Amino acid sequence: MNDTQPIWIRDPQAILADGAERGIVVSQGRIVEKVAAGAVPVTADAIVFDAGTHVVVPGLINTHHHFYQTLTRALPAAMDRELFPWLQALYPVWARLTPEALDLAVTVAMAELLLSGCTTTTDHHYVFPAGLEDAVDIEVAVAKRLGLRVLLTRGSMNLSQRDGGLPPDSVVQDEDTILADSERVVARHHQRGEDAMVQIALAPCSPFSVTTSLMRKTAELAGRLDVRLHTHLAETEDENRFCEDKYGCRPLDYLEQCGWLGARTWLAHGIFFDAAEIQRLAKAKTTISHCACSNQILASGCCPVCEMEAAGVGIGLGVDGSASNDESNLMQEVRAAFLLQRARYGVSRVSHKDALRWATKGSAACIGRPELGEIAVGKAADFALFKLDELRFSGAGDPLAALVLCGAHRADRVMVGGRWAVTDGAIPGLDIADLIRRHNGAARKLQAG
Ligand code: ZN
Repeated sequence: MNDTQPIWIRDPQAILADGAERGIVVSQGRIVEKVAAGAVPVTADAIVFDAGTHVVVPGLINTHHHFYQTLTRALPAAMDRELFPWLQALYPVWARLTPEALDLAVTVAMAELLLSGCTTTTDHHYVFPAGLEDAVDIEVAVAKRLGLRVLLTRGSMNLSQRDGGLPPDSVVQDEDTILADSERVVARHHQRGEDAMVQIALAPCSPFSVTTSLMRKTAELAGRLDVRLHTHLAETEDENRFCEDKYGCRPLDYLEQCGWLGARTWLAHGIFFDAAEIQRLAKAKTTISHCACSNQILASGCCPVCEMEAAGVGIGLGVDGSASNDESNLMQEVRAAFLLQRARYGVSRVSHKDALRWATKGSAACIGRPELGEIAVGKAADFALFKLDELRFSGAGDPLAALVLCGAHRADRVMVGGRWAVTDGAIPGLDIADLIRRHNGAARKLQAG
């Protein structure tokens, strides 16, 4: 097989697309044909992949993560704490990150995502202790090695405890360094166009760890470079209080004052917006990454997803960092979002299809990639294929509903841009046992200090 030969993913057991009962044909990284019931492809010379035992969904898109946090999962010192004390327990540990440890952390996070059916992920890396200046470059290299599509953000923190912020001095950088490096990583790595595999966005960490000046200048830089903007917002009541004390306004007012309220921006969490603020978000076309597991573990609250969608605010899903989830399984995140939002809104307003839509089309809108997240002609050939041969699915009626309701964990195959990145439940060329051994070693060392 070569990259130029079309592939017919034939006769899936079920597929999340209308008019594709006999499958889809992909070529040159795109979907070129949907094959309806009773039809055959018009595309000549397609290689057949028999999907008779597979449920096919658009590749899942993760809109919020911190890959480095796979090194601090289930850490006793940070467990059972809310966001601010949780962060304060973890900052000194993260300050010891090394390039070697980050490489392993990123590989684990990306592998876990891929194997859960994720084809595109973001990452929000905002910890740059001395020696880790090339963090984003390390992430790009791993993404290319594994064949995952990425939107990596150059994060930042410059408001330390000394200046009234939350993080210690050891994990912050100065404004000039941050802005110069932001420009460098965009120039070096950001690809444009619908087939882009690596993109860069700019992402100051949060109102309580970044100065107003850096927020403003980052927005200006993102505008000039035409890249997206990301940050955490409205995650906790603590953050509301911090903004009111320090800036005399609520987080969304502050965001607007900093020049961030627009279509270029997507926000992680968005729990504590009131009705008027939701209308402002909709008007500005600012989107929200809903992180259901993280919000439950840190007991932050519940994002008002249905109110937001009713107002016209786009919703995507994010697993968030592995210190507050503590897994990077995006299919499990779909289930978590489905359960949390159904509990809030009831059976008639939230279905498994809504949760899958948030993780695909909704997430694609968050990251400004409308060519992703949907099985339609002209869209990217990014898919996750699940088999229902595990004990958890035995007896299931509707195959698509079973993925969410029975708790699918692991994709059998994943295609990214027309290439298989996962085959038979494994990532070709990646020795998972060896990765776990080395990653565990790096985590022990980091945690021990
Ligand atoms: Zn986060």
